[in-house]
Amino acid sequence: MSSTALGLPTLRGVTPVSDRPDADGLIDRFGRTATDLRISLTDRCNLRCTYCMPAEGLDWQPADQLLSTAELQRLIRIAVDDLGVEEIRFTGGEPLLRADLPELVSFAAALHPRPSISLTTNGLGLHRKAHLLADAGVDRINVSLDSIDRDVYAAITRRDRLDDVLTGLRAAREAGLHPIKINAVLIREVNDSGVGDLLDYCLREGFELRIIEQMPLDAGHRWQRSEMITAAEIHSLLGERHDLTVDPTPRGAAPAQRWLVDGGPAAVGVIASVTEPFCGDCDRVRLTADGRVRSCLFAGEETDLMSLLRGLSQNAADTDSEIAARWRDAMWTKQPGHGIDDPAFLQPARPMSAIGG
Ligand code: SAM
Ligand code: SF4
Repeated sequence: MSSTALGLPTLRGVTPVSDRPDADGLIDRFGRTATDLRISLTDRCNLRCTYCMPAEGLDWQPADQLLSTAELQRLIRIAVDDLGVEEIRFTGGEPLLRADLPELVSFAAALHPRPSISLTTNGLGLHRKAHLLADAGVDRINVSLDSIDRDVYAAITRRDRLDDVLTGLRAAREAGLHPIKINAVLIREVNDSGVGDLLDYCLREGFELRIIEQMPLDAGHRWQRSEMITAAEIHSLLGERHDLTVDPTPRGAAPAQRWLVDGGPAAVGVIASVTEPFCGDCDRVRLTADGRVRSCLFAGEETDLMSLLRGLSQNAADTDSEIAARWRDAMWTKQPGHGIDDPAFLQPARPMSAIGG
């Protein structure tokens, strides 16, 4: 076992996991199958959200250590053709910073069976790219927006860019992207009291709000459970202006519990990763921008596919089927849960921006 520049244990060139059954898909020991691949395209970002990054940014990974367009295309093809991946979400860091994003989207859209393709973005620059991305094959988009108050938005993201995001959202709607979901994280005494205005904005514009409980994935490791706003609090804040009833549609592996607003069809979702974990139904797998597979946001180990892609492994395991086998091994050892409540829980060394949310 070696380690990354971030000090993470990395599995590379190791003996294959011996007790993994011979199956095509990304199965684990707890009966789950990962079909939803989240790809972080870069660890860089043009915002500095307080719950994610420090004000000064991070030591970005050098460009030559990031997956190239061709390497990403190869891994996407292996994921869809050999591993049964059905959904691909591009994220980051900020995925719109990668110039090859439209090319990657069209590549994924040309595969058979075609995966569903989505994007999680902070929306900066989206007004210039929304049509191109929709034409390339993006089906759905999540845009992060923690407040519609300009000062509050600037306080959280450390950048005065609210207007850019709102313009990007309008462009996404005009480009036909649907549904458009708004991701928000609530911070006590910063944007919690404005969540009613944010919900009303989403209802007016036809966007679906998703509130995410803040997770221990900030670069500064300052997250404290006692300070986070829980799903129960979120529910009562959202219920101040509207009647909320549980959406009767089966939730499946979706991370959000949906609530119908005033009887529907409009809805709001709450992602209670900390207080109401949904690990038992998880169908997600993550690929970092430097080519590591993570079986969970909170995984303590990563599996290095980059060295296989670049022929650097001692095993020289560089065929597609060997890469697929290593990827299956990585998922077979997925833990049953994230363990945030375990006294021995250790926050991952990588922050959210370097994993891909
Ligand atoms: N930059 C893009 C964006 O902000 O949408 C994509 C990457 S960002 C890491 C993906 C999502 O993770 C965002 O919706 C963001 O709000 C969320 N996020 C970041 N740090 C988080 C944390 N500590 N807890 C919960 N969600 C977090
Ligand atoms: Fe950037 Fe997204 Fe992290 Fe905000 S949440 S700093 S936009 S990566």
